[in-house]
Amino acid sequence: MNVHDSEKVVGTLVQEGYRQVETVEQAELVLYNTCSIRDKAEQKVFNRLADYKKYKAQGKTFGVLGCVAQQEGEKVFERAPYVSLVAGSASYRNLPEMLVQIQAGNSRVTGLDDRQTDECFETEFTARTNPHRGYITIIEGCDKFCAYCVVPFTRGKERSRTSESVLAEARQMADLGYTEIQLLGQNVNSYKDPDCGDSGKKRTFAELLAAVGEIPGIRRVRFTTSHPRDFGRDIIDAIDAVPTLCDHVHLPVQSGSTRVLDAMQRLYSREQYLERIAWMKTAKREISITSDVIVGFPGETEADFAETLSLLDEVGFDAVFAFKYSPRPNTPSLSLEDAIPEEEKSRRLEVLMARQREIQIQRYKKYIGSITEAMVESRNEARKQWMGRTSQNKTLNFTASTDPKVGSYVNVRVTSSFPNSLLGEMVI
Ligand code: SAH
Ligand code: SF4
Repeated sequence: MNVHDSEKVVGTLVQEGYRQVETVEQAELVLYNTCSIRDKAEQKVFNRLADYKKYKAQGKTFGVLGCVAQQEGEKVFERAPYVSLVAGSASYRNLPEMLVQIQAGNSRVTGLDDRQTDECFETEFTARTNPHRGYITIIEGCDKFCAYCVVPFTRGKERSRTSESVLAEARQMADLGYTEIQLLGQNVNSYKDPDCGDSGKKRTFAELLAAVGEIPGIRRVRFTTSHPRDFGRDIIDAIDAVPTLCDHVHLPVQSGSTRVLDAMQRLYSREQYLERIAWMKTAKREISITSDVIVGFPGETEADFAETLSLLDEVGFDAVFAFKYSPRPNTPSLSLEDAIPEEEKSRRLEVLMARQREIQIQRYKKYIGSITEAMVESRNEARKQWMGRTSQNKTLNFTASTDPKVGSYVNVRVTSSFPNSLLGEMVI
């Protein structure tokens, strides 16, 4: 999501006559996009800003964008006085104006929206960095307020773009030669097509997904992230009906214990989560399932943690992004007692990742011998290999007797497997 936010910012400024350069040294204006989902991400921001200090004497202007900017607000100026601009994601459309203010001599400009904004940042001027696959935001913000999460405070309330505007952007991308589109939102399943009068049809998320998949020229459609609470069976029906919809669902579970899920205010139980997994397992194509897990949420017992491990076994994820619980400002879980000591969180994380690694070793093995379509992403000269990605979002590296084009789709016979990737040779 942050990568795509940066693409929108670059697009907006290029439209105003700015030019993007390769290095900080060449730049007169440095905008630093930030993430505050965990404390570590936030610490990195201030360390990096300290590195930038030396450039101030050269007359460069610095701005901090994104969730750390929104969360810390004017405090950023105190911690990094050489910064002139602090702006959250809901105010990027005003960036050109804010930069004019800086040029006029105002050395502290802010663009900080409250949670109440109804406006979506329409993406007319997105500067996409990859010419073959690109992101489209369909919904911004989040109203779920999971007990540990800072997003509702930094990205504001949920607001969906009209499906007509999403489809217009997708068609425009198809015309430009894009073949893969990824629909983005903190919680794409909460998508609610705003009333747009008589100008178009109102679509559910599954209908929008199918409509994007049916655009001529589009070969792959992905979406992220899904919240289990709102994940409907109609999404699986759409994947069954429209072959361009990728056979991959990222469905963050966070914990395998219903007790912890309640404390996290996730609004579903272990059983309800597993019910959604059962739907996916009856789909016509094998759907690859990936997830996010938090270990060491306040009060998580050994027994709760054991339930998370058993859920990994039961589901058989193809990838899990696991995090140690990190207390975040403003969030309800900040006041919970029974914090888990840092060493114990680290131990649980290690145990979980080792278990998941074993699961992936077994799961990836079964692709050996199969022929799978890969989109060619890049060349690794040192290894004399091409890097590709399957519809299931797996990395598939391969050798080829003739050079394929980056962005093209090729068939690859899988010859060996690793815990996180597959290796094969291109089939002509
Ligand atoms: N909207 C998505 C998640 C966005 S944040 C969803 O609801 O699933 C991405 C991931 O970061 C989350 O799934 C969660 O696993 C992790 N995360 C969020 N807040 C966290 C915190 N305070 N500590 C540790 N991990 C966190
Ligand atoms: Fe955060 Fe929960 Fe919203 Fe995801 S659904 S962004 S975890 S509050």
